[in-house]
Amino acid sequence: MLSPVGLIGIAILSCVISMAVFGSLLKAAIPGLARWFTAYGLVTVALVVLELRGHERENFAAMGASALLLIGALLMLQGCRQFFGRPPVHGLELAGVGAVLVGLVYWTFVAPNLSARVTMMSLYFAYARLAIAWMAYRYRPLHRPQYSYLFVAITALAGAIFHVARGLAYFTGLSHQTVFFEPSPLNIAFLALGILTLPFLSIGMVMLAHDRLAERMERLATIDELTGALVRRAFIARVETLLAAACAGKRKLSLAILDIDHFKAVNDQHGHAVGDHTLAHFVSLLSQGIRRTDVIGRLGGEEFAILFVSAGKAEAARLVDQLRTTVTASPAPAGSSAIACSFSAGVDEFGDGDTLTAVLARADAALYAAKAMGRNCVVVAPSPEGLSVECMEAD
Ligand code: GH3
Ligand code: MG
Ligand code: MG
Repeated sequence: MLSPVGLIGIAILSCVISMAVFGSLLKAAIPGLARWFTAYGLVTVALVVLELRGHERENFAAMGASALLLIGALLMLQGCRQFFGRPPVHGLELAGVGAVLVGLVYWTFVAPNLSARVTMMSLYFAYARLAIAWMAYRYRPLHRPQYSYLFVAITALAGAIFHVARGLAYFTGLSHQTVFFEPSPLNIAFLALGILTLPFLSIGMVMLAHDRLAERMERLATIDELTGALVRRAFIARVETLLAAACAGKRKLSLAILDIDHFKAVNDQHGHAVGDHTLAHFVSLLSQGIRRTDVIGRLGGEEFAILFVSAGKAEAARLVDQLRTTVTASPAPAGSSAIACSFSAGVDEFGDGDTLTAVLARADAALYAAKAMGRNCVVVAPSPEGLSVECMEAD
């Protein structure tokens, strides 16, 4: 049969399991996770204290356990704030916890009143759960799968509703206890439901942590760490998607391949670290110069590609030439000196039934021609009339 002692035993086990799962993720340094781990540790200790309390010191045990549960609930909330990149600690909230602790002491030792204590604790837990629900809903990243965020929001909201109901039941006298965890049916029901909210919430938090890990892995697999451009594979995948959409919508697509001129000399003269810095500066200039719809990928080394959406090759060449002017006019700051560089580019557009491989090959041939023509220029891939040089400046 369900008894308070049995239920608390189950809750202790579930909290220990939650801690074990949080513990397995601690090394991943996910914001907020250490607080969740500590929170479940405190709740476990609180439940053990309640489980083992003797009759002589029942008040002290209940008081200590309640204080641990309060701090545990606060840490869960703070962990969520940290997870969502918000400042975790709120002064008013700490003051609120202080006030609840004073209330606990008053209604335990000065004017013993179990119903008042339970009402106050329930309202505090309801607030903490409601704040978590609101945060998970309000700050959920819309570009991620929504399941885990909504799971936390709904679970925490259900927990808040449960705690409000429990608080009201004690406040109105519907439920009345004279000893802690009296085995009345209503108390057993409240205890069982309250205990259920703990594993549900920890499962939700673990889901959030896994989503953060998945996001990190996806980022590592798609974004070039040095420059922030898409890596070659991710760029190709993106272009294929946009190509399918452009075919369906009969929109023009153009592609440019950019290669920095004499980049080896930058490394040779200034060292690899300055070379890296120059590459990052170069891509930041490109990113600021392209339109929101365009996509930059790093094909390898100091060679990049830009996909221009809704632009024919003449328009794309004009945009690339603007970038060329910007790049030559904006040397990368490196200590007391500045590293000037330029790039050469080949441009072509997708024709009917064209493949990315074919367009890449034609743009690459145009780039080769740009290099052969003296560099620092943009060449449009051969059309029936032949090569078209958009711009050329003396090195
Ligand atoms: P060109 O005008 O013909 O393109 O001359 P280049 O010197 O730019 O071409 P080359 O292909 O000979 O050299 C490319 C250099 O880019 C060599 C390589 O060390 C350097 N490089 C490639 N990737 C990186 C990188 O991530 N960081 C740094 N610092 N250098 C890189
Ligand atoms: Mg080069
Ligand atoms: Mg190169």
